[in-house]
This record gives sequence, C-alpha cells and structure tokens, in this order.
Amino acid sequence: MNQKDLQQLVEDTSLTYFNKPFRHQATFNTRLKTTGGRYHLGSHDLDFNPKVLEKLGLETLIGIIKHELCHYHLHLEGKGSQHRDRDFKNLLKEVGGLRFVPALTEQKKAVSLWKYKCRKCGSVAQRQRRFNTSKYVCAKCKGKFELLGREA
Ligand SMILES: [Zn+2]
Ligand SMILES: [Zn+2]
Repeated sequence: MNQKDLQQLVEDTSLTYFNKPFRHQATFNTRLKTTGGRYHLGSHDLDFNPKVLEKLGLETLIGIIKHELCHYHLHLEGKGSQHRDRDFKNLLKEVGGLRFVPALTEQKKAVSLWKYKCRKCGSVAQRQRRFNTSKYVCAKCKGKFELLGREA
C-alpha cells in the first residue's frame, strides 16, 4: 500500500462510515513508533504508522483510521474530539473504531522469575518480585519457602 492507496482508503472509510468527506492529507509516517495514528489539530492531516498494516493487518488499520477520523470530524465540527469526551466515545462506538492500538513493539523477552520451593511439601512457586520468605507460607501446606534463585 502506498501513500495514494492510503489516502484513498481514508477517503473511502470516511464516506462509508461517517457519510462525510475527508478533505485533508493522510500520510504514512515511519516516525510513529508506539501509536498507530495521529491527528494534527493544526493542519487537520492524519499520520499513520506503516507498521500497523505490516504487523496487524488491514482490518486493524481501518479500525485506527476510524479512530483518527473521529478526532478529525468532531474537531472540525467543534464537538468533543478528545478521548474523554462523550461525543468521541459515542462516535467511535458507532463507526466501530478501535479504542486502543494493539501493541506494535516486539514482544519483550519473558521476564525472569524468582523461584521458591516449599521446604515442607516441595511445591515450587514463581514470582516476578522477590518476596520475604518469612512473611509468606505455602498455599498448600502452610510450610515455609526457600529461595531457589532466579531463572536465567
Ligand atoms: Zn486518539
Ligand atoms: Zn508446601
């Protein structure tokens, strides 16, 4: 999908779901990292993250286009165009736009866990945070834990 295709897609989405034309520029912006799209209050243009299409597919991109078009149309009409505004929430729901953009960053490496072993029954517990072994007891037998260590 190139810039022209994106522009066309945004214009089509606007007419289909909002019954209103999109009269500004829609651009792929590689500088967007974690957000899927952005509405520029000053120029009324829209930016979209090209990674959305790459990693999450067309349906998600359209969901984000709808979200940004909610900002766009409401702002141009002088209605509540912020996420917390009722106008925004209602319109977003109406057109089926995405509230949040699914994570775009690579999955982080699994967090390493602290491993504990119950001294009495031998059951193993894993926690993200270290805990004080004198304060917690085994859920199964109420025995005391010992710290085995942290997974590599
Ligand atoms: Zn937004
Ligand atoms: Zn136990």
